[in-house]
Amino acid sequence: MSEKKYPFNNSDSEWKENLSELEYHVLRNKGTEAPYKGTYTDFIDAGFYYCKGCDVQLFSSEQKFQSSCGWPSFDNELESANIEQIQDNSMGMRRTEIVCGNCGSHLGHIFDDGPTATGQRYCVNSISLVHKKIKLNY
Ligand SMILES: [Zn+2]
Repeated sequence: MSEKKYPFNNSDSEWKENLSELEYHVLRNKGTEAPYKGTYTDFIDAGFYYCKGCDVQLFSSEQKFQSSCGWPSFDNELESANIEQIQDNSMGMRRTEIVCGNCGSHLGHIFDDGPTATGQRYCVNSISLVHKKIKLNY
């Protein structure tokens, strides 16, 4: 992982203790869950999506759209989410990785080919998210 310090900062052994093996692989080692297998790929319930690593609010169900890419897709993030974008040249591709700005956990990638007005497609691993049916606190 990068050396960057995030506001929410676990040690590596704490992450291992608090996450399942697959969660650790995706969140902390930038892994990718199998397409079409994630809990939230076709999930449409209203509510908010939180970071699995630190419980910060990232997305609203209103920002989610049906995509054929195999992972949950959002056309924007919550203003408070503070998602960080990192240039990713791995696997022979130029992509932009997205990580939680609070704990640095890997979420997925962002593309500029979204079908809605924002033009953005946040392609996120289900396993990086937790859905809750509660309202914003403001
Ligand atoms: Zn987080």
